[in-house]
Amino acid sequence: MQAVLALSVLWGLFLGLLPGAARAQDQADREPGLQQGPEGAGCRISKNAHRLALTQRHEFNGIRVFYALDGPHALYTGVDLNGNGVPDMVEDAALHLDTVRRIYLANGFRDPLRSPRFRQAETIDIDLLNFDAYSPGVADKRGLSFSAVIRYPDSRARADRCTLSIAINAALAGNHERVKDYLIPHELFHLFQYGHAMFRASWYLEGMAKWAEWVTLAENRRNPTLWSTPLPATPAELRARVFANPNLYDVRHFWNRLAELAKAGEPPMALPGELRARRFADGTPVVRDEIWRGHALMLRILQALGEETEAVARERGLPPYQWPDADQRDPAHNPRMMRVVQRAVAAAGVRNNDELSRFLAIDPAAAN
Ligand SMILES: [Zn+2]
Repeated sequence: MQAVLALSVLWGLFLGLLPGAARAQDQADREPGLQQGPEGAGCRISKNAHRLALTQRHEFNGIRVFYALDGPHALYTGVDLNGNGVPDMVEDAALHLDTVRRIYLANGFRDPLRSPRFRQAETIDIDLLNFDAYSPGVADKRGLSFSAVIRYPDSRARADRCTLSIAINAALAGNHERVKDYLIPHELFHLFQYGHAMFRASWYLEGMAKWAEWVTLAENRRNPTLWSTPLPATPAELRARVFANPNLYDVRHFWNRLAELAKAGEPPMALPGELRARRFADGTPVVRDEIWRGHALMLRILQALGEETEAVARERGLPPYQWPDADQRDPAHNPRMMRVVQRAVAAAGVRNNDELSRFLAIDPAAAN
C-alpha cells in the first residue's frame, strides 16, 4: 500500500513539475497500482483504485465502456435522450469508437488487436474517469491513450480480460460533445500508431493523430490554414515547426499539408455502407462526410515506420515490442523517421511542385 502511495505521489510531482508533462502522460502506462514489469511485456495486472471504481459497463460490438454514476468518477452529464437507461455520453463513445475503428480498418490500417505487439489484448475499452481524481496533473486533458495490455482481476465488471484502453475525462464539461467529434478518433488513432510502430516522438504521435480526427469530422472552410500552410522548406523550418515545435498539436499543419498534397492521387475513403445511417443519441450523424484526405499516404507512412521500428530494434538489440521508454522517445530517431515520410511522399506519386521539391530536398539530420 505504501509503495503504491509513494508511486502515486511521485507520479503527481512528475506531472506537475516537468514541462511537457502532459505529453508524457498521453501515452503513460505507469499509473499507480499497475504491476511493474518489462515495458509492454505481456498482459499486466492492475489494482488501480480509480479503474476499479468504474463499476458500470456498456458494451457495443465488443467495445466496452466503463463508467460510474456516483462517487468521484461520476459522469458530469447523465443526459439520456433515448431513455434507455444508459447515459448518452457512454453509448455515443462506444458507437463512435466502433464506427471509426471500422473505417480505419476498411482503409487498410491494422487493428491494434491484430498487431503482434498487442497479441494478448482481447478488447478495446473506454474508461470514463475524472482525470482530476485519477491523476491531478492531467486534470485539464480531455483524453488519454495507453499502450500497455492490462487486466483487472479485482473488477467484476471487467471479467478479467486483457485489454487495451483509452480514457476520456468524465468530469470535463463539453466532453460529451468532444466525444462526438474529434476525441474518439484522436485517442483511437494513437492505439493504431502504437500497434504499427514503437516510436513515440510527439511530433509524430500528436501531429498525425490531429490529422486523423478528420475521419468523421466534416470538412470546413473556417480555417483554411489547416490545409494550406506550406511544408517546411529548410532544415531550420523543419526543426522549428516539426521536430522542436513547442506546441505539439500545432504540428498538425505539417501532416495536414501532406494530406492535402496527396489527396488528388488517392482513392476516396472506404466507408462501409451500414455506417452511413448511424446516429448519435441526439440524432446527429456519426459520419459527417465521406472525405478523409491523405488516408492512403498516412497508411503508407505508418507501415514504413513499422519496418523502421524493426530495423532500429535489430540495430540496438532491443526486443521487438519491449523497448525501454528512452528508446521509444529518443530524438535520435527523428531523421530516419522523417526520411520515411519523405520516401512515402515521393513514392505516393504526389504531383510535384516547388514546395514539395524543397521539402524532399531537406536532409532531416541537419534539422535535428
Ligand atoms: Zn494525443
